[in-house]
Amino acid sequence: MPARPIAAILFPLPLPEAFDYEVPEDLDVRPGDHVVAPLGKRSARGVVWSLKPADAARALKPVEAVAGGPPLPEGTRNFVDWLARYLVQPPGIILRAVLRSSEALKPSPTETLYRPGTGEPGRMTEARQRVLDAAAELGEATGADLARQAGVSASVVKGLARAGALEQTIRPVDPPYDAPDPDRDGIELTAMQAEAAGVLRRLVRAGGFQAALLDGVTGSGKTEVYFEAIAEQLRQDQQAQILIMLPEIALTEAVLSRFKVRFGAEPALWHSGAGPKNRRRAWREVAEGRARIVVGARSALFLPFRHLRMIVVDEEHDPTYKQDEGLAYQARDLALVRAKLDGAMAVLASATPSLESLANAQAGRYVHVRLAARPGTAVLPEIGTIDLRETPAESGSWMSPPLVQAVAETCARGEQSLLYLNRRGYAPLVLCRTCGHRMVSPDTQSYLVEHRYTGRLVCHVTGFSMPKPKACPECGAEESLTSVGPGVERVAEEARRRFPEARVDIYSSDSHRGPEIVAAMERGEIDILVGTQIAAKGHNFPNLTLVGVIDADLGLAGGDPRAGERTYQTLVQVAGRAGRADRPGRALLQTHQPEHDAIQALIAGDRDRFLEMEFAAREMLGLPPFGRLAAIGLMSQDPANVEKSAAVWAAAAPVTDGVEIWGPAEPPRAMVRGWHRRRILVRADKSVDISAYLRAWAGRVKTPASVRVSIDVEPYSFI
Ligand code: ADP
Repeated sequence: MPARPIAAILFPLPLPEAFDYEVPEDLDVRPGDHVVAPLGKRSARGVVWSLKPADAARALKPVEAVAGGPPLPEGTRNFVDWLARYLVQPPGIILRAVLRSSEALKPSPTETLYRPGTGEPGRMTEARQRVLDAAAELGEATGADLARQAGVSASVVKGLARAGALEQTIRPVDPPYDAPDPDRDGIELTAMQAEAAGVLRRLVRAGGFQAALLDGVTGSGKTEVYFEAIAEQLRQDQQAQILIMLPEIALTEAVLSRFKVRFGAEPALWHSGAGPKNRRRAWREVAEGRARIVVGARSALFLPFRHLRMIVVDEEHDPTYKQDEGLAYQARDLALVRAKLDGAMAVLASATPSLESLANAQAGRYVHVRLAARPGTAVLPEIGTIDLRETPAESGSWMSPPLVQAVAETCARGEQSLLYLNRRGYAPLVLCRTCGHRMVSPDTQSYLVEHRYTGRLVCHVTGFSMPKPKACPECGAEESLTSVGPGVERVAEEARRRFPEARVDIYSSDSHRGPEIVAAMERGEIDILVGTQIAAKGHNFPNLTLVGVIDADLGLAGGDPRAGERTYQTLVQVAGRAGRADRPGRALLQTHQPEHDAIQALIAGDRDRFLEMEFAAREMLGLPPFGRLAAIGLMSQDPANVEKSAAVWAAAAPVTDGVEIWGPAEPPRAMVRGWHRRRILVRADKSVDISAYLRAWAGRVKTPASVRVSIDVEPYSFI
């Protein structure tokens, strides 16, 4: 008997590689198919990664069965392999991220619809008559709807269907998405937008992998421009699939409705809040190649596209594209990789592009498309500072007199203000006036943040919370715990006190009413919005004309190499919420150091000057984008174990030119939920393949099971 071919099967498990199995004669499998095969003492579901010629010399276990579900396209499999090497992870862990919507692998559930038929109902009862009347009225309905309308049980409906008096059709519960129409009329583009759109269209027509940085000031109409690129792609290729990535769920609504106006169809949605049914539908339709447009969060990158032609990364500078927990990756960077592997186009859009992307544009790797102005008569906001050394806020308040006056003027004109402070809750610190004790989290030793709305003290690292005690837990003094510093709740309290007539609301990641607040803001139902960075992203509030930054100094200090860049980006973004169309806006930054470079550059609107300084500093230190960083994190519940492992790792580091090792060190959050942490940072020259270096390193070390190791090849968080 000739030997059977071999299938290498990858399981969505932390195993080092795909395992070989024999393909039995009665099974027809292809790469990408979902199969069941024995693994240890049980059977597991995996994906055929490749087929190899028979090898009679090897005794292999057979594949047990072919499982259902749309096969994983080749591009997706290549992406998994590439990612596993790059992120220094077992490939099965990446596959697990791809197969996240496992329900999508089962056949779509179906539902039966009934409509009036031609058959005779036979014996006629009152109940049957009511069902026929209901069917005549509804036209087509599910059995449950018909029965409810008629006030009868489902068996009456079924009886009529058997008799032929009702006709049945069975359809999948997850219907395909409507096809987008690229040729509907869009908004009339300004000359500047039209030129930018023309550049992108030419890139689309050139085909293959292309990367463009759409670099346009806030409110310049970047969305309309990339819509034109999408339209061109849809015209060029009847099968083209396009992914639009957004950093924030609250932003999807706005893009969705604009997309519907432009293309007359709803895209598939993919994010954690989309619900299992939507995700099942989206995953399956994407894998079948029928979902043409997906709007999603960073994890949409792992969807099994069959014919991916374009990825748009909107607000590409946004820090939420970086996932730190679990599988650590930077979705913007991976979008480029995925586009390259699939021969697709990548469009990165932002008003404040990351230094990485700007460096790529300057080096000619990305086509740099700029939009320097807002459409029509809309102008960019004027940015000014309020020097808190000269005009401080009164004790116990956070708004300086000039800011109070500006808000009063804005309210008087019937326009909206945004007070920006990137601190959730009421106060970032609670301490005892009697003994000086500071309330800290038991797990992390970080300060507990007071939330007045819920009356609790909360650890923003672990989520630990406790009611605010009446007495100091240290010295027992009553009524002695005092709130120090402001959070958004406290600023809102002050705004309400100063402007009792105004409608004040808070927008932070604690509010579950995000989309509601955005809509209320758009409708002008809020006068003063107090918000964290979530309020600073991409929204268009036509009547918002004043942005007050409560603490522009926050974030300028600290050991994070991107702190300056991030502060600059955030301040430009938040200021950019002010002023649209015919209403000019202004932004006022409260600061103790108006002479700081980032703030000076901001006021002067001189981005290039800021960039020059940032680039120079990073280049000197060999930091991204001029070098690479990686982090090895070690965690154990036993402090001695983590210490020992960190020493073993450090000793095993391969010595190579162009690589420096920093650490092991205790990160600022040295303990989280009882886990003691150590970190080793790796800095490498750009020419070094840092993933290969880390793989070689990891191969030399044996870490005991009590110590968890995490590798991050592009760390953004240093706490
Ligand atoms: P960006 O993403 O660059 O910040 P958007 O694409 O969100 O900007 O556009 C900002 C605002 O300008 C939106 O309200 C949009 O509808 C409007 N807009 C964009 N292009 C035009 C245009 N050509 N004519 C009129 N309004 C436009």
